[in-house]
Formats: sequence, C-alpha cells, structure tokens
Amino acid sequence: MKIIEIEGLSVKYHNIEALEGVSFEAESGDYIGIVGPNGSGKTTLIKAILGLVQFEGSISFQGKNFSDWALSRHVGYLPQKVSFLDKSFPATAKEIVLSGVYCCKKFPKRLTHEDYAAAEETMSALGVINLKNRLIGKLSGGQQQRILLARALVHSPEVLILDEPTVALDPQSREGFYEIVEKLNREKQVTILLVSHDTGSIGKYASKLLYLDKQMIFYGTFEEFCKSSKMTDCFGPGQHIICHRH
Ligand code: ADP
Repeated sequence: MKIIEIEGLSVKYHNIEALEGVSFEAESGDYIGIVGPNGSGKTTLIKAILGLVQFEGSISFQGKNFSDWALSRHVGYLPQKVSFLDKSFPATAKEIVLSGVYCCKKFPKRLTHEDYAAAEETMSALGVINLKNRLIGKLSGGQQQRILLARALVHSPEVLILDEPTVALDPQSREGFYEIVEKLNREKQVTILLVSHDTGSIGKYASKLLYLDKQMIFYGTFEEFCKSSKMTDCFGPGQHIICHRH
C-alpha cells in the first residue's frame, strides 16, 4: 500500500532552489535511506513532509492531500541530536515522552490516563522505563536519544522520520539505536525515512535508497542501486560498503 506520494516537489528559499521537481512514492513498511552531499536538500525534503516549509508540487498521505495538522498524527520525527546541555533541565524522561502526545491534541490540550499509559508502554518497549523519573539532562547521550525516540513514537505514528539521529552517539549506542528502529520497521511495519551520512548503517538497515542533489538522482531498491554504475560517482567507496551488504 502506498503511504506517501510526492509529486513534483520544489522548494525555494528566497532565490535559492533547494529542491527541484522531486517525485517518489513510499510503500507502507519501506525503510528508505536518504543520502546526498551537504546542501543537497535532505533536511528541506523532511521539512516539506512535516509542513514546515512552503513548497510547490504535492505531498499525499495514504492517497489524501493532507493538512499540517492531520499529518502530525501520522508522522513521528526525531531531529538531529537535541542536546540537553543543562543538567538540571526541569523535565523528567517521562515528561519528555509525554510531550509527544500534544501534537495530536486539539485545544485544550489535556493529558489523559491513556496518554500516561501510552508513554509507559512506549518506554517499556524501548527498554527505558527504568529512566522514567530521571531528569533528562542527567542521562547519557544514548539514553537521551532513546527517550526522544519514545517521544516520537508515543502517538503510534505510521511513519518515522529520522534526521542524522546518531551523530553524537558512540558506535555501540548507535548500533543499539538502529536495532530498535529496525525492529519497529519489521514487527510493526512503521515506514522509516532515515537521513544519514552513515552509509554503513544505511546499507545495513534500509531497503531502499533515495539519492538527492537538489533533484532526485536515484530512487530504488539496493539491488537496482548496486547495478547502477553512475552511483559510483556519487558514493565513491561508500557504494562498495552498501553493495557488499546486500
Ligand atoms: P542538506 O540537509 O542536504 O544538507 P538542506 O535542505 O539543509 O540540505 O539545504 C538545502 C539548500 O537550502 C542549501 O543550499 C541551504 O543553504 C539552503 N537552505 C536551507 N535552509 C535555508 C533557509 N532557512 N534559508 C535559506 N537557505 C536555506
């Protein structure tokens, strides 16, 4: 089943053309790695899907053109590392997770017993329930990232968007993080859009690849990618890593 359809998507910031005529479709349960050089429009693509920038073209969800509000119910978003530098930032891990349910509520935004239960359930599923009463700023980088992942997932979105989610993590935490995401994709059919420079992890976990350079240079499965000779120019040795794993 098609979950996201993007047709002729273009975004301009003043005179700068950040995306030009990008079109692709994601099937429910896809795990799409989004790659491209710095400034190639990856974050802009995500912002357009999240309704944070104006665009030309169309973005549909399950066959319907959606409004920003309707979309937030369906998408969980984990931005690049949010650092709680202040160790006494006045929120517990559970409160941070609970803040994820506000996206789907209309005014007045009141938390219900179901919301508290959903927060605990999500934290249990991600193995962080033991951290629920700890101040977020006092957790390690890997723990904070799992809490933020729980926040993105607490409203059970069908699509999870991750923007360079592991840049600040050590290799062990990074691997643990990607294993959780892979399980969500495999067991719950959550569609994943992952922006990353980490070609190793993309090659290991994603099932499709989207290569952007303002325009869409490539979109397809890894089998198709590995047969595509022009991709050597884009990835250099990175192509070898990806193809070796598939
Ligand atoms: P990537 O995520 O691939 O590094 P971005 O989507 O952040 O690329 O940026 C694409 C292009 O748009 C770049 O040329 C960048 O400088 C420009 N850009 C991004 N955000 C803004 C903005 N808020 N105002 C002006 N230009 C921007």
